[in-house]
Amino acid sequence: MHPLLFILLILLTFLTMEGITWLTHRFVMHGFLWYLHEDHHQKRPGFFEKNDAFFLIFAIPSWLCIMLGLQNQVYWVAAVGLGIALYGLAYFIVHEVIIHQRFKWFTRSNNAYIRTIRWAHKMHHKHVGKEEGESFGMLIVAKKYWDKVKEDNKRKAKN
Ligand SMILES: [Zn+2]
Ligand SMILES: [Zn+2]
Repeated sequence: MHPLLFILLILLTFLTMEGITWLTHRFVMHGFLWYLHEDHHQKRPGFFEKNDAFFLIFAIPSWLCIMLGLQNQVYWVAAVGLGIALYGLAYFIVHEVIIHQRFKWFTRSNNAYIRTIRWAHKMHHKHVGKEEGESFGMLIVAKKYWDKVKEDNKRKAKN
């Protein structure tokens, strides 16, 4: 397999994972696996959440694809596995570190994109129940959240 194609496949998988995450979050985590996701919306004491199990749930297919793909030299399968792993890493950094600050690795950023995805996720957490949610994605969010951050910037500029 051409190395460029390999990299392209990793990126394509990464992008697809945003859609898969949206669907999983909307229909599985806020669906029949709500009991694993509930403690992410209704915080309880302690560092770990049942919700962290989703990292394992996604890590298993990723690890299997990488291992079996490399062993059998079916490189597109390995590329898919790497794409899932990369998305998992991005999700960890964006959701656990930047948004929820479970690790205080970065100071709060004023970057418009970071503020927009933080706001969008904050709106997701406004709902503490299983039903009625909004903003189930992570890296790609609706225009209205961008508009809200733009409005804030305008207001700040005036004052
Ligand atoms: Zn949720
Ligand atoms: Zn969250």
